[in-house]
Amino acid sequence: MRGLFPHLDGLAIGTVRAVGSTVHIEAATRDVSAVCPCCSTPSRRVHSRYRRRLSDTSITVREVIIVLRVRQFCDNSDCARTTFAEQVPGLAARYGRRTCCYNGCWARSGSHWVAAPARG
Ligand SMILES: [Zn+2]
Repeated sequence: MRGLFPHLDGLAIGTVRAVGSTVHIEAATRDVSAVCPCCSTPSRRVHSRYRRRLSDTSITVREVIIVLRVRQFCDNSDCARTTFAEQVPGLAARYGRRTCCYNGCWARSGSHWVAAPARG
């Protein structure tokens, strides 16, 4: 699977299956911890999990949905946030429903994909 979906290389890829006219790709992060966006404290305490659906670039004529398993972490008691959701840098904007790849903000640089500057 590595290289087939270069924007997903940092993720653990699960089942890839056709669902009607779409392709669902299940993915999850590999990191054991996440850093709180408020106080920058790393946390390993998983509070809950949920699935986030992200529209991705199509394969042939099939729409692709990334079904990302997201963990909600507990944070330290001194922080204003009680929980926070892990993010995948470069995959999608916070609260975004489309991947950066779908939005066209990726560009090829040699043999790697990199986040391209936003188009104005
Ligand atoms: Zn915090």
